[in-house]
Amino acid sequence: MKLANLKLKSDYLSLDDIFYHEVKPEPLNNPHLISANKDAADLIGLDEDELHTDTFVNFVNGKLEIPYKPYAMCYAGHQFGFFVPRLGDGRAINLGETNGWHLQLKGAGLTRYSRDGDGRAVLRSSIREYLMSEAMHGLHIPTTRALAIIGSTHRVYREDWESGAIVLRMSPTWIRFGSFEYFYHAKKHAELEQLADYSIKESFPHLVGDKDAYIKMFTEVVESTAIMIAKWMGVGFNHGVMNTDNMSIAGLTIDYGPYAFLDEYDFDYICNHTDQGGRYSFGNQPQVGKWNLSMLMNALSPLVNIDKMQEVLDTYGDIFNKAHLQILLDKLGLETHHEKDTELLSALFDFMQNQRIDYTYFFRTLSHYNGDRTKLLSICMMKKPLDEWLYIYDTRLKLEDRNTDDRVKAMLKTNPKYVLKNYMLQEAIDKANEGDFSGVEDLMILARLPFEEHEKFDHYAKETPLKHKNLKLSCSS
Ligand code: AMP
Ligand code: MG
Repeated sequence: MKLANLKLKSDYLSLDDIFYHEVKPEPLNNPHLISANKDAADLIGLDEDELHTDTFVNFVNGKLEIPYKPYAMCYAGHQFGFFVPRLGDGRAINLGETNGWHLQLKGAGLTRYSRDGDGRAVLRSSIREYLMSEAMHGLHIPTTRALAIIGSTHRVYREDWESGAIVLRMSPTWIRFGSFEYFYHAKKHAELEQLADYSIKESFPHLVGDKDAYIKMFTEVVESTAIMIAKWMGVGFNHGVMNTDNMSIAGLTIDYGPYAFLDEYDFDYICNHTDQGGRYSFGNQPQVGKWNLSMLMNALSPLVNIDKMQEVLDTYGDIFNKAHLQILLDKLGLETHHEKDTELLSALFDFMQNQRIDYTYFFRTLSHYNGDRTKLLSICMMKKPLDEWLYIYDTRLKLEDRNTDDRVKAMLKTNPKYVLKNYMLQEAIDKANEGDFSGVEDLMILARLPFEEHEKFDHYAKETPLKHKNLKLSCSS
């Protein structure tokens, strides 16, 4: 399909106008394409050739030559535990929906919800969002997607002057826990019901007309959130800003900010420089997910009996633990479950925590393990703990039916060779700031296919260089 034939629907505008602000994007000065993503284009049936036209750059810059009704959405949210009654899309403008994907420009100007912000996004954070949403998809983790990123000569002030950029994001829904909280806390229960009905149509169509649709929707959100966070934990992803406005009703990873993949394993790792108390630390993510769900539960309480929802919420721990255990067993290449597996796992994680072992590199190296310990032992300064653990692992492997080759194959599909660590992203950003976007393209290759070899990028599959370990990023973006 040509861009000119794209049809964008804005069904959300059938809701009352309290739900949104109809607003047109404000284009950036001198826009230019930094990267476009053919996988995302496929999802909306857009021809790949179209991605390299001026019309496309204009499109991402908010100058659309097709009919459309753009709007920003209203929501609230608990930020670091404190309720903020009105947030909303302060710098995101929805263009409309096509083929089940809502297209949204991030950084395309002011909306009613911009508060003190300028409606813009800087190049560095836009590159991070663009690449990471594709990387999460490549790792089979539910996420929003990104179609393209453009840069500009627009000057945007953060701690210093930077250049403005826009990412065209896509999601099956942009409704957040905070969307429900807005109407609940404003005591607008009729609108809350409208939103729930809209969301059911959009994200839970199999529940339309079901008399228990609301509780069933909540049950699915509990489940998808628990599973999404279990997957984050499996790959060592720390989101960094798990405010309820950054939690998708569809259990997708959204709003990429100061996130990080673990370099060395540290359960208490905090990627967000602003998060001094560690509320959103790596290890706290599962329990924060549950707390956020409890805020959604409160918000839905005018529609559903809260005790029933509490019963559902009480299943969160079991759903998370089951999913998490399965993911970890897969990472170890174990097909069967044995009573002592949790001991095997805690011994491994204790060892990784104490020895500060590079998380991704360790599991990838373990994936190749065939009885020869040399490579694995070379990862750690003190060899004895790992050597001892490997004896227990060897014994455990004997309980499996699968042969070594098949286990290795399966583990190589489970334990990525590449994750986009912060220092890699920073290298691509530094280059991009000099006008060289090849780093973005390189990382896009790794983002799309993180389980493949990509020998040219072998250096990125090693331990994070010491000087780049455990960077913390600020929320400024
Ligand atoms: P975030 O931390 O990116 O999830 O943003 C939290 C809230 O602040 C959301 O309502 C955003 O739309 C808003 N926001 C963040 N940055 C800006 C900005 N530069 N201009 C306007 N609103 C912003
Ligand atoms: Mg947000």
